[in-house]
Amino acid sequence: MHAAIAPAARRSLATVSAAAPRQQYRVVVVGGGAAGVTVAAQLGKHAAFFNKKDVLIIEPSDTHYYQPLWTLVGGGLKSLSSTARPMASVIPSHADWLKARVSKIEPAANVVRTDDGKEIAYDFLVVAPGISINIDKIEGLKESLGKDGVSTNYLAAHVEKTFEFIKAFQGGNAIFTQPSTPIKCAGAPQKIMYLAEEHFRDKGLRGQTNVSFYSGIGKIFGVDKYANSLTEVCKKRDINVNLLHDLVAVRPDKKQAVFKKVGGDGGSGEVVVAYDFLHVTPPMGPLPFIRESGLADEAGWVSVDRATTQHVAFKNVFSLGDSSSLPTSRTAAAVAAQSGVTTANLLSAIEGRPLAAAYDGYTSCPLVTGRDKLILAEFNGYTLQPRETFHFDQSVERPSMYRLKADMLDKIYWELMLKGNWVGPAPFRPLLNPLDRN
Ligand code: FAD
Repeated sequence: MHAAIAPAARRSLATVSAAAPRQQYRVVVVGGGAAGVTVAAQLGKHAAFFNKKDVLIIEPSDTHYYQPLWTLVGGGLKSLSSTARPMASVIPSHADWLKARVSKIEPAANVVRTDDGKEIAYDFLVVAPGISINIDKIEGLKESLGKDGVSTNYLAAHVEKTFEFIKAFQGGNAIFTQPSTPIKCAGAPQKIMYLAEEHFRDKGLRGQTNVSFYSGIGKIFGVDKYANSLTEVCKKRDINVNLLHDLVAVRPDKKQAVFKKVGGDGGSGEVVVAYDFLHVTPPMGPLPFIRESGLADEAGWVSVDRATTQHVAFKNVFSLGDSSSLPTSRTAAAVAAQSGVTTANLLSAIEGRPLAAAYDGYTSCPLVTGRDKLILAEFNGYTLQPRETFHFDQSVERPSMYRLKADMLDKIYWELMLKGNWVGPAPFRPLLNPLDRN
């Protein structure tokens, strides 16, 4: 199911069309999401790719979403259509687009296979198909989603339901979950909780409402500085925080959520909680075809060097974003910083030079805590130390940071990042080479 497309985006669709692909490309990019499109766009700024159709993006979806705004869609503050553009409008003009799903990569043969039977050969490969949202791993979730107060902001088809249910809520138990698996945007499971709690308070329902956060991990957030602020926010707003509780089943007939205690001081066992509204962040994991292609690390992610983003075994393969093994928090902000490094190193590999660019784990999570409040977590995901852009304490809730997220970051994404002109904060900017036609 796709959102209606905003009129401005619809106009640009006429200028680009999906091409009939060749069978061989210099660079093939798997996935036309944040990472794939950004790297493809950056390649076009270099002599080897400028004005040539020597990059192919393989991507099955017709619509490209700016997912970071889905928190505000679920909170009733943005429309889903404002986060969507036709895929054709974001494919760079020097790239071809094959609308198909990659089913297997054969890295020893330099070949990608698609689910509709195509075989495309490459010299260099960028693997960026994102993360798999595994709703099947929670018993009863698939049948429950979108009905009787159960929603998730993590799927385009369900995100609008979140606000429908928040609006319809009349009091009772409002429950927000986070799984123990890695997920994209580790702050998003609680951001929607703060928006919902504010809504319930404004409607005079807070007295008859319990707001609870259940997380499968042992901390409310990975970086202490921001975890401390969020713990204070929860205390101040009377939000119950239950750590080391992993959602394992939803019983829609009884409106019950079943959690498994995952060790720690709480012991083990099951906890059953009645819900009136349930926002689920499903377990996530790597896409199975990565392992089937022989590109995976033990956990199933594309196994790359954490500095260069080059595959550890296949030197003509790179990976970044949610599908990669880069051990940082998976966000579009991290993708921006990784993209300049990947492109620079990919070009070096193409030209036979040593790989000089290094990614250091930078990531960012704009933690929305209300309609005009936000804690801008910015940190090194490898060391879990803050790495802030602004000269004020970013662990404090600020209206200005909310405006940055609500009004500016999407414009940076569409107008700069996807066009190859944004690689994240200052230290990465030297990687943003101007067009080099020599
Ligand atoms: P994606 O952008 O998901 O793109 C992957 C692409 O690969 C998709 O287009 C998919 O269709 C395609 N694909 C999948 N399988 C295949 C296949 N087999 N063959 C070919 N193509 C395939 N990030 C932030 O920076 N800040 C935030 O505030 C933030 N909030 C978020 C809130 C929510 C609710 C969600 C869902 C995400 C949020 N993110 C946020 C995370 C951010 O959107 C992702 O980290 C980012 O999009 C990752 O980019 P990617 O290219 O790796 O994956």
